[in-house]
Amino acid sequence: LKINIAIDGPAGAGKSTIARLVAKELSYIYVDTGSMYRAVTWYMLKYGIKPESSDEVLRHARNMVLELMPGADGQKVLVNGQDVSPLIRSREVNGMVSQYAQNEGLREHLVALQREMAARKGVVMDGRDIGTTVLPDAELKIFMTATVKERALRRFKEMGDAQGLTLEQLEKDISERDRLDEGREISPLRCAEDAIVLDTTNMDIPQVVETIVSFCRT
Ligand code: C5P
Repeated sequence: LKINIAIDGPAGAGKSTIARLVAKELSYIYVDTGSMYRAVTWYMLKYGIKPESSDEVLRHARNMVLELMPGADGQKVLVNGQDVSPLIRSREVNGMVSQYAQNEGLREHLVALQREMAARKGVVMDGRDIGTTVLPDAELKIFMTATVKERALRRFKEMGDAQGLTLEQLEKDISERDRLDEGREISPLRCAEDAIVLDTTNMDIPQVVETIVSFCRT
């Protein structure tokens, strides 16, 4: 019997990596909701539509064809048929995504798409508001955390060098994104009351995956 798994937590906690591996282990579908907010942000930056123009943001977002496709090394994101997967991870997008993500209409639009993807169960979905808002009935909810130092260090090892960022800059960027995501009015980053909190600061990837998979088998 398939269930839905919601994984929430702050930026850089390793949610995507873990969610993807858990999905693989269980033969479930992985849905990275952050990639949807990122793809919208990439598009708005490209066409110069500011986050303050909320109606215009929503109008364009509704007209965009946004597709998520499972790929060998993670999930691919297509906007109007164009693969934007590498583009949505830029520092520009990192720096702006939380501002676009405050748009209430945009959130409603994306949440509706996310619920549709989870309607047939067997989905591992990661984000900020999955356990609280998108899938409040998910059978398993995980809130993944790690200290901001550890999260910055992981990001740094992953791509910090490549983007020419120092560890300190990464730590600052991550803290700022958390502050905006926790502080926004509409479905802020929160731990659902019935979520299991997993502090991964001192855990490696296989340990976290094994822990979550074991919850599903009990
Ligand atoms: O998970 P990721 O870091 O890729 O998410 C990028 C941003 O998208 C977050 O910082 C947040 O502003 C927004 N987001 C959101 N709700 C979600 C997923 C992401 O607001 N469910």
